[in-house]
Amino acid sequence: MMTFVTRFAPSPTGFLHLGHAFSALTTFNAAQAAGGRFVLRIEDIDQGRARPEFEAAIFEDLAWLGIAWTEPVRRQSEHMADYEGALQNLVDRNLVYRCFRTRKDIAEAIASAPHGQSEEAFRGEALPPAEEAAKLEAGESFAWRLSLKKARAALGPAYFALVFEDETGLVRAEPERHGDVVLARRDFGTSYHLASVWDDALQGVTHVIRGEDLREAAHLHVLLQKLLDLPQPVYRHHRLILGDDGKRLAKRNHASTLRALRESGKSPADVREMVGLS
Ligand code: GLU
Repeated sequence: MMTFVTRFAPSPTGFLHLGHAFSALTTFNAAQAAGGRFVLRIEDIDQGRARPEFEAAIFEDLAWLGIAWTEPVRRQSEHMADYEGALQNLVDRNLVYRCFRTRKDIAEAIASAPHGQSEEAFRGEALPPAEEAAKLEAGESFAWRLSLKKARAALGPAYFALVFEDETGLVRAEPERHGDVVLARRDFGTSYHLASVWDDALQGVTHVIRGEDLREAAHLHVLLQKLLDLPQPVYRHHRLILGDDGKRLAKRNHASTLRALRESGKSPADVREMVGLS
């Protein structure tokens, strides 16, 4: 039988709060219950925001909660060549294109489009070669976007047969919800989507367990898995922990950080109770 492997993949851009504790505990408990493995991965591709002290705090806070992970911990910033290789594969197969539009350009194009699409639903295509060469020559910056049109052409009927399993059953994937997503920028060798999908496969993750807020991401991730010939995990989405204001906890909710709770005398058992896991 295949070993159950799941993961918790925080970004070290702030201190973990109750929402992270719930996610990490839910994931860890699932691995324990299945006699499987729990992987901790540090998603620090955003080097402008990631800080070593937040990473150290992640290890400390999770250990305090009683969570144990397998070593070594994969730190994404140390594996940029992997993600660049995956991107190159898509470049070579003409499944991505260079998009020279700025955020402002895109926002304007969307504002003029009917039904007010979100930025995420952007669609475009490669510029004519001479125009592109001129922009590259001029050093203009660009992003690599996945072309849904090309992906559909490459996969044929398999594109429409893409499904994934989550807690609601079998779901038909609708990558169109995301439009042509950015997979890398010149100053940013990979996006979360590409790095996360790549690492889940590399680390043998069989079950991706994460918050509701990432439910939509699965629609895109299964397409990337198909295009890169990676195995598809099962998805499970859990509820989000809300703050007193009824909103999802964010890094700014200092009072809910595990650090602050610990300093105020709370125990790991108190934290489990606070998130409804006792
Ligand atoms: N690094 C992502 C986050 O902190 C993880 C998302 C995921 O679990 O795929 O939101």
